[in-house]
Amino acid sequence: MPFTLVSSLISDPSIYLHQVFQLTTSQIIKKEKKKKKRTTMSSITQGSYPPLLQDAEKERLVQVVKDWTVAHGLTVRPPPAIAGNDTEGILATSAPVTLFPSPFPKSCFEEAKAIQTTYNELYALISQDEEFLTEMVKEVAGGDEFIANLWNVHLRVKKEGYVQNLALGLFRSDYMVHQDDASLQIKQVEFNTIASSFGGLSTQTSLLHKHLAQHEYPLLSSSSSASNLDLPSNDSAAGLAAGLRAAFDAYGPSTLGHPTCVLFLTQTGERNVFDQRHLEYALTSSGPNKVPVFRLPFSDILTHTTLASTPTRQLLYTLPSNPSLVFEVAVVYLRAGYGPGDYPDQEAWEARYQIERSNAVCCPTVLTQLAGMKKVQQVLATPEESNSNSVPSALAKFMPPTAEKTQRLLKTFTNIYPLDTSSSGLHARSLATSPTQCQKYVMKPQREGGGNNFYRSAIPEQLAKIPEEHWNSFILMEIIEPPALANSILRNGKVEVGGVICELGVYGTCLWDQSSGEIKFNEEAGYLLRTKGDKSEEGGVAAGYGCMDSVTLV
Ligand code: ADP
Ligand code: MG
Repeated sequence: MPFTLVSSLISDPSIYLHQVFQLTTSQIIKKEKKKKKRTTMSSITQGSYPPLLQDAEKERLVQVVKDWTVAHGLTVRPPPAIAGNDTEGILATSAPVTLFPSPFPKSCFEEAKAIQTTYNELYALISQDEEFLTEMVKEVAGGDEFIANLWNVHLRVKKEGYVQNLALGLFRSDYMVHQDDASLQIKQVEFNTIASSFGGLSTQTSLLHKHLAQHEYPLLSSSSSASNLDLPSNDSAAGLAAGLRAAFDAYGPSTLGHPTCVLFLTQTGERNVFDQRHLEYALTSSGPNKVPVFRLPFSDILTHTTLASTPTRQLLYTLPSNPSLVFEVAVVYLRAGYGPGDYPDQEAWEARYQIERSNAVCCPTVLTQLAGMKKVQQVLATPEESNSNSVPSALAKFMPPTAEKTQRLLKTFTNIYPLDTSSSGLHARSLATSPTQCQKYVMKPQREGGGNNFYRSAIPEQLAKIPEEHWNSFILMEIIEPPALANSILRNGKVEVGGVICELGVYGTCLWDQSSGEIKFNEEAGYLLRTKGDKSEEGGVAAGYGCMDSVTLV
């Protein structure tokens, strides 16, 4: 039976899975085998997964998924194209999700989880190295006003002195599987240090696929390949909440006599609100003592928060619904503030400054946010020209070069180049401007949140629009091409079937002291699997490119 991809991404035509697939699973597999006569993920799954669905079976499965997702909060606010304006804010719909968990190599999954605490440590160390970050910012700020403004917030607070030394990271390291002759390996796509999302929905997605494996897949006529799935548990929501909890507890009681709280800074019109709510509920139900959690739009910071006129500069939050209640904010968790859109005017920068100079533990601080720049990832991955050592010196600066843990991180790096005038940068410039060579690369600015990168042919076109002196604000990264897989994606009520690409994210939580360097909490915190059509470059779920998925280990 031919698979037909019914593209249903109504909200944004640029992200249509713009092909109508006429491939069967076995055709995809044959194509893959022809291309590479060696071990592939498809051969690992023996070509019969996921099972082919008869129309009536698909209908049943879709109904079950639609109901389960809504019943368990695996949901998002619907896009306006689906729900109109929903002025009452009452509608929720299923998050896009695969009908089956995707096969993922067990060794890769375990390695990604095992190295997360080392990655946490690395990014805590980078956040503490102001000199290193100064260099990184210098490289890119000329062509990047947003980064320059962020840096300026840090400089202003530094001048008067930080009052809070604790910093919290809720991180996510993203990978794709890379296949070479001998083995399957994880290669890092990026490391997120701000607003690492989907930890809330990811736990629910793992539970959904477990439910289907137990109650639905056995009912399928060709169920054999979907029996005995290896579905690991996924405590991402609880894991991330435990990080917030550690920071809340470390802050201690208010010396001003207020109750303490955690403040989630959010974007106005956020559609991914239930993901955040799952974290909130996991946090409020964790531990014996109560943790009040409030959501505050980033644009309302200056309206509803003030700093105490004390040398400690406690951040005080007045509850808009009952202004007689004033809370001292122990932890500020940013699910906003990662892109220029949240800073429409100087007042928004003053708001960020107010948070940064306060006594609240910031998740993240400006320095930790900047540690997540793609430039940092590039410098960690690019070997220094004068350096014959196999460990890039920037990584050696933070981790003992010969230590096993350093070598394990190193294995996850893929080729990333600067676009400056160093000899590595000049080489990258020749790759990026060549119409043939550029096909293997993605060019990235210092941005988060999806939709900002330039892929393949778009790279020379984009460079032609930018003055050459600003090219160094970008990095050039080799495109990772994971093995072909097939799956079905349920999005806005429609099923899209065809080739897919999976991206694994591993969450990590870390609480450290910026001045002493002491790490007080360092945990791996569950995982995310995002899956997209194999003709789509971007993979963000919130941005509309990908969907939620979970792994079945192979
Ligand atoms: P953002 O910060 O906007 O999320 P990413 O670097 O994660 O930016 O890129 C967005 C998406 O583009 C990724 O989720 C992935 O699907 C794709 N992508 C990015 N870099 C690569 C790469 N080197 N190889 C393959 N795909 C990539
Ligand atoms: Mg990303």
